[in-house]
Amino acid sequence: QTMQTSPSTQIVNIGGFDIGGPNFTVIAGPCSIESPAQFMETANGVKASGAHLLRGGIWKMRTSSKDFQGLGSAAFDFVKNVCKETNMSLVSEVTDIRQIEEIYDLVECFQVGSRSMQNYELLRELGKQRKPVLLKRGLSAYINEWIKAAEYITNGGNQNVILCERGIRTFETATRNTLDLNAVAYAKRNTNLPVIVDPSHAVGIRALVPDLACAAAAVGADGIIVEVHPRPAEALSDGMQALTLSDFSAMMKKLDKILTAI
Ligand code: PEP
Ligand code: MN
Repeated sequence: QTMQTSPSTQIVNIGGFDIGGPNFTVIAGPCSIESPAQFMETANGVKASGAHLLRGGIWKMRTSSKDFQGLGSAAFDFVKNVCKETNMSLVSEVTDIRQIEEIYDLVECFQVGSRSMQNYELLRELGKQRKPVLLKRGLSAYINEWIKAAEYITNGGNQNVILCERGIRTFETATRNTLDLNAVAYAKRNTNLPVIVDPSHAVGIRALVPDLACAAAAVGADGIIVEVHPRPAEALSDGMQALTLSDFSAMMKKLDKILTAI
């Protein structure tokens, strides 16, 4: 292939897709799973444009307790059906140890959200599981705190960890967070884990998401996790940063060009 740019040796397989090798993996779907129709439409749409894996929140960590908190167990049956019908594997967040068992058969990868990066009991428990873990960087976590958090999982015997840079808090307020591309380059060269980028939460503004996705590809990330909603104006969470299905399709074409060039 091309120049060896990373010492990354751990390949994490999610639903038949290898993350951490030469591939660039795209995980796409809504912030929150809202209804059978919304989830099915999104899944079919992103798959048609080349997404490899599906994302979608069942339990949501919201800043305000008054905001939509996710469907929880009410989503289980139809989520299973959407994954089966579309033949896509799901990455979804667990916010509590008890949820691991509840959605074990629904997901192919457990997501640990930014707000949970230092929930060490949750990380320890995920270290005992046989399914991969996508570990988001904390809102204000040092790169080394993030890497050390990953060791709570790998030390338990589960080596299938993917690091995810999702933007950090800085003095800047024009965008939601600041995508730290340094962290991607640093983690790629100083850990053996695959590293992906979440451009959606990093920038928080729909129009800018594809630009940051391309930056992620150029810096050597192993993939992205991106929010897509068929009708962002109706989204129950993070509508501002959700790509429409046509935005997503256009972004995939742009990404292809970057990936061919590097
Ligand atoms: C999410 O992926 O929807 C999410 C809540 O992200 P983060 O934990 O990075 O804020
Ligand atoms: Mn979100």
